[in-house]
Amino acid sequence: EAKAISGSHYKFFDHDLQLSIQRKRLIESHLHNAINNNELNLLLQPKIEIHTGHIVGAEALLRWHSTEIGQVSPAEFIPIAEKSGQIIELGNWVLNQALQLIKDWCQKGYKIPKIAVNLSAVQLKDVNLVQDIKKALEHYQVHSEYLELEITETAAMSDPEFSNSQLSAIKAMNITLAMDDFGTGYSSLSYLASLPIDRVKIDRSFVSDIQHSNEARGIIESIIHLGKILNKTVIAEGVEETEQLELLKRLGCHEAQGYLISRPVASSEFIALLGKADS
Ligand code: C2E
Ligand code: MG
Ligand code: MG
Ligand code: MG
Repeated sequence: EAKAISGSHYKFFDHDLQLSIQRKRLIESHLHNAINNNELNLLLQPKIEIHTGHIVGAEALLRWHSTEIGQVSPAEFIPIAEKSGQIIELGNWVLNQALQLIKDWCQKGYKIPKIAVNLSAVQLKDVNLVQDIKKALEHYQVHSEYLELEITETAAMSDPEFSNSQLSAIKAMNITLAMDDFGTGYSSLSYLASLPIDRVKIDRSFVSDIQHSNEARGIIESIIHLGKILNKTVIAEGVEETEQLELLKRLGCHEAQGYLISRPVASSEFIALLGKADS
């Protein structure tokens, strides 16, 4: 009997696996034309300083609406693009698009905060990364103070020495660096201290548990404490409830980002939010 059960499970799993392989192939093949077909765009999600409520930054988040398969989440297509190598081209598209926005806004005389772009682990390993960033900044004539790059802890850890040299070269261009999804990887304190990063983003999983789990709250407290010691700005991602924001404020967290403050929005809407916050 046990054999029969495991047999049927195997078939089920096999079918599932086949579907997921097909879906991945489909995504990979359509992603190929996403840039040329104009299927990509960037949304911006504001970041606020907790004690003033002012918008102090925004994260650029990639969206893909495929004419063939519809809306696909970055959580689904980014890992596929990382495996296929397409992430290099996509990453460059995102960077260029963000710089184009910054350039337009500066030309219009808007007072804008830093815009953060996510960098994939695969991009961090790319030997052309530093040069690509330098070229893009020159091409758009954008001051590096407007740009921030978010790197996950896991990405930085996979080849610590090379990551450190890449990040140092980026830092030398005066670009702000943030460690994304912090607390989910396994980096040591000494490694974190050795990296030229300015900011730490507390992973959403801790924030969502902050009211109910002493453990999550303890982890958040220690990240904030660590930030103080290492002189890094600490931001909490995924803030959805007022109570979470209140707790974070009490714990001394500097900044927050999440649906409570704003969903990721179109660039024009972001400018409207900035204007509202100003008056
Ligand atoms: P991430 O960099 O950690 O981005 C935060 C994700 O959390 C975003 O999902 C954002 O929409 C979502 N989020 C923000 N506030 C809340 C909240 O209050 N509650 C909940 N439940 N979610 C919230 P999104 O846009 O689907 O992106 C998912 C991931 O895909 C990102 O995680 C990032 O790792 C990756 N990604 C997105 N855009 C890019 C990109 O341009 N380049 C690269 N390399 N990765 C990207
Ligand atoms: Mg991010
Ligand atoms: Mg994050
Ligand atoms: Mg996260």
